[in-house]
Amino acid sequence: MTSLLDGLDDLLPQLHDTYRDLHANPELSGQEHRTAALAAAGLRERGYEVTENVGRTGVVGVLRNGDGPVVLLRADMDGLPLREDTGLPHASTNGVMHACGHDVHITCALGAADLLARHRDAWSGTLLIVLQPAEEIGAGARWMLDDGFLDRFPRPDVCLGQHVGPLPAGVVTVRPGTMMAAADTFTVRLFGRAGHGSTPERTIDPIVMAASVVLRLQTVVSREVGAHEQAVVTVGSLHAGEAANVIPDEAELKVNVRSFDPLVRQRVLDAVRRVVLAEARASGAEREPEIVPLNAFPLTVNDTGATERVVTALREHGRVLRPMRFPLAGSEDFGLFGTEAGCPSVYWFVGGADHALFSPEDLERLDDGVLPAGVASNHNTRFAPVLDPTIRDGVVNLVVAAAEWLSRK
Ligand SMILES: [Zn+2]
Ligand SMILES: [Zn+2]
Repeated sequence: MTSLLDGLDDLLPQLHDTYRDLHANPELSGQEHRTAALAAAGLRERGYEVTENVGRTGVVGVLRNGDGPVVLLRADMDGLPLREDTGLPHASTNGVMHACGHDVHITCALGAADLLARHRDAWSGTLLIVLQPAEEIGAGARWMLDDGFLDRFPRPDVCLGQHVGPLPAGVVTVRPGTMMAAADTFTVRLFGRAGHGSTPERTIDPIVMAASVVLRLQTVVSREVGAHEQAVVTVGSLHAGEAANVIPDEAELKVNVRSFDPLVRQRVLDAVRRVVLAEARASGAEREPEIVPLNAFPLTVNDTGATERVVTALREHGRVLRPMRFPLAGSEDFGLFGTEAGCPSVYWFVGGADHALFSPEDLERLDDGVLPAGVASNHNTRFAPVLDPTIRDGVVNLVVAAAEWLSRK
């Protein structure tokens, strides 16, 4: 095993440069052209067969190295529409920010790709390095799969991925089973009939209709989801009308649903739909509401056996593993690869925060999800993982996990 990591120390300065370059030049979801080109060049240099524009800007690198399992390592590539506020020398100035650390993911995937190619005499099998676009909008994995990913490339036997988070650098956290929530976001348009504010009897008021929908939706979780189950229903946006004396034509809501179980998810989505349709009918609406999906993230579910293998391998390799007590309410589209390929997947979190920012008490309370004051979490304009040891650890995790499946020579 150690031999697969030989050369990592020499490789790190180059990986740090790659990271700083990616960090300074983030791109929005679906527009990762420069990022994809950089990743593709990096994989080609390392001897991979590279295919670009898989699902728009996706990149796939394949290393066929004899008989054995096919191991998929996935990294996502997109930044967020945020103005960076880290003050770092390599901070982005283009109004887009790698505030979710996808630059770390790309860099670590390239590092792992490098070491595994360099030491290909020590293993056999096939490596599939997947650089996925548009994770933040829950679209990129779908795009790649819809672009024939499973037919065009070797079918994976296991899918592995990792995400950097605000834990102390060096710490890995993972759980078997449900790891992250499913998320469904949609727009609801409620149609009324416009008119003068003085004559509501001649109108169908979409604002009152919308207000009823919002209140009634609060009962979905409290009255239709059991005490042992979990879900969140949030109306995050509500727009209707302009003037106080005008009853508008329509109202628009944006609704976000989080769930941790496929059956609960379906029940909640059905309930939301039922409430919307029934409230429109209760208001006498002449036109059925429109419910248009904006995005849908699947559940992230870690295969129990495969997770155990990764955990054991990482622990043997000196990694500090913290149990995750609850699944995260955040969401990911990584799970689609394993689901569609019909193979197990494992997704874990790796710490990227400066250890010095955590007091001994903070470290005690890590499992409660409490963050010390100076630590910015993902999607914060001050999110700034420390380069070292985050990049090194991320590379080691991927190599150690992949080696669990690749046949040894
Ligand atoms: Zn994110
Ligand atoms: Zn992310």
